[in-house]
Amino acid sequence: MNSNEIDIHKELKKYFGFSQFKGLQEQVITSLMKKQNTFVIMPTGGGKSLCYQLPALIQEGTAVVVSPLIALMKNQVDAIRSLSSENGIAHVLNSSLTKTETAQVKTDITSGLTKLLYVAPESLTKEENVAFLKSVPISFVAIDEAHCISEWGHDFRPEYRNLKNIIKQIGDVPVIGLTATATPKVQEDILKNLDMSNAVTFKASFNRPNLFYEVRTKTKNVESDIIRFIRQHKGKSGVIYCLSRKKVEAIAEVLKVNGISAVPYHAGLDAKTRAKHQDMFLMEDVEVVVATIAFGMGIDKPDVRFVIHHDIPKSLESYYQETGRAGRDGGEGHCLAYYSYKDVEKLEKFMSGKPVAEQEIGFALLQEVVAYAETSMSRRKFLLHYFGEEFDSETGEGADMDDNVRNPKTKVEAKNEVVK
Ligand code: ADP
Ligand code: MG
Repeated sequence: MNSNEIDIHKELKKYFGFSQFKGLQEQVITSLMKKQNTFVIMPTGGGKSLCYQLPALIQEGTAVVVSPLIALMKNQVDAIRSLSSENGIAHVLNSSLTKTETAQVKTDITSGLTKLLYVAPESLTKEENVAFLKSVPISFVAIDEAHCISEWGHDFRPEYRNLKNIIKQIGDVPVIGLTATATPKVQEDILKNLDMSNAVTFKASFNRPNLFYEVRTKTKNVESDIIRFIRQHKGKSGVIYCLSRKKVEAIAEVLKVNGISAVPYHAGLDAKTRAKHQDMFLMEDVEVVVATIAFGMGIDKPDVRFVIHHDIPKSLESYYQETGRAGRDGGEGHCLAYYSYKDVEKLEKFMSGKPVAEQEIGFALLQEVVAYAETSMSRRKFLLHYFGEEFDSETGEGADMDDNVRNPKTKVEAKNEVVK
């Protein structure tokens, strides 16, 4: 069938029950179905999965989807299977499968039943898997979380570096790369490493006009300042991020003593406690979660009203991800970060044990956080510029939603200063 003859709106409704595409989805899908290499940069929650799932479902052959996390792959496979009466429509191929299971996956692919095959990059280093994929019709290859290919991303995975060679072995198929990391450096790295400089690029805006950005100097009164802030937002849900597990526990305790319902969340707690605390937050049995960055992956609470960073994050990408959990419903979302140079030095010290190349990248990313904290310009403009996006700080959406714009700092011109 000619791809032009397929009514993708009808297919969207049929498979997913949605009546409209979100953002750039339609353009992305059209590009991929024209067999063009395609590159998608969309914020988290933007609807990237559908950009490859729908074309996979409606085209001949099997789409190979590379994804870094087994849990994410399993979720997606379950979701796709629920759309169909055939379990074989989607599979995961990884080393945890038994021989019988692997044989079933291969049978389903060969018979044309399987439309989506999720693979971890490690599985693609196995020669027998590559040889098998070479022997069956592949519609395209999707690389989800494509920033994992870049050392400048927040989640570098060396196995992603082999993907280009493997895709070439599989055959001459279109490739779609997808990421929520918008920095120009990471994007360049992705295109270079996947050898896709010819890719058609689609980039959604990263502006979140309903989020208010604020930075406060961190003093020894930071805890009472946080308590006051939470009391001003009584009955609202919020997240407080801290760097260490110890700090998470300490802040959660201080809040409780002061009559604020709060639970800690970090990787040092057992899985049962973590799940319980997460549920308590989602069910609104507590107002506040105090957490390390372990909290948040896949948390979809629409009405988080504030995200406080007790300690500064290690990069602006992390900051954007973490603050992005506020105001998902489009309502108010206050993003408050406490900044002290001592914390910067602490982070630098953490990094000093790492390999030199990693250290250099870590320092450079941290310097951007420092510049953000110390800037007197529109914070939104600063953030968006970092993500390669021009923002008009007078007329842009959400232009007045930060401390610097609301209360401009009086600039001290050096030449006007009186030297005594
Ligand atoms: P991303 O990978 O970009 O973070 P997802 O692919 O996980 O985002 O999608 C985020 C959410 O958006 C999901 O709940 C998905 O069902 C929903 N979604 C995707 N496309 C549409 C659409 N066209 N209409 C309505 N909801 C959509
Ligand atoms: Mg995704």
